[in-house]
Amino acid sequence: MKAIKMLLLAGVAMLCACQHAPKSSATQSTAPKRLLLLVDVQYDFITGSLAVAGAPAVMDSLAGYITTQPQGKFDAIVMTADHHPADHSSFKDYGGIWPAHCVQNTEGASIYKSVLDAVKQHDPQAPILTKGDNVAVDEYSILANEASAKKLLALIEEKGIQEIYVAGLCGDYCVGNSIKDLVAAGHGDKIRVLTRYIGNIDDGTTLRSIIAEHNLQVAE
Ligand SMILES: [Zn+2]
Repeated sequence: MKAIKMLLLAGVAMLCACQHAPKSSATQSTAPKRLLLLVDVQYDFITGSLAVAGAPAVMDSLAGYITTQPQGKFDAIVMTADHHPADHSSFKDYGGIWPAHCVQNTEGASIYKSVLDAVKQHDPQAPILTKGDNVAVDEYSILANEASAKKLLALIEEKGIQEIYVAGLCGDYCVGNSIKDLVAAGHGDKIRVLTRYIGNIDDGTTLRSIIAEHNLQVAE
């Protein structure tokens, strides 16, 4: 009788072990799907014609952040880039408010090397989505560009992205407007603003007010 009871107990213990084992592996596989969105990390905004004060240090620290994240943390990394024709309407010489910047196929339009190298360590195929290609239209937000918006929203959908980490340049224009458009597209609850890795033309007031207005989560 005693032996049967022990066998029964052992059976219960085994059942418990079996129930627990798949549970812990299931916890691992349900880690949130993460997208890292890097906005306009381009030379002209860092050391070039429209350099944001302090941007080299902020972007080098962004490169350090990306490098130290574990492999597989991000299910996708997407870079955005201003990609203007030489006579773009946003340039002062053509009636706009900005000095010429990020002209297609120039060094100034290319992605900052330390950040690009860090991205490639995680995803050699990470895409660059462009905006501002049309001479007549300025597009601060990547979602303002129809073709790029379509690609980004499809990627979020297809990969089942649950968290969107955002960094880059600059908080009061292209980062801020991209965030606002992601909120408008229904992704506000996914946004994690990497404020430490965002450069601003102003003192950060605009970005802080966007974060407060939409009650967005900030990430370290
Ligand atoms: Zn531009």
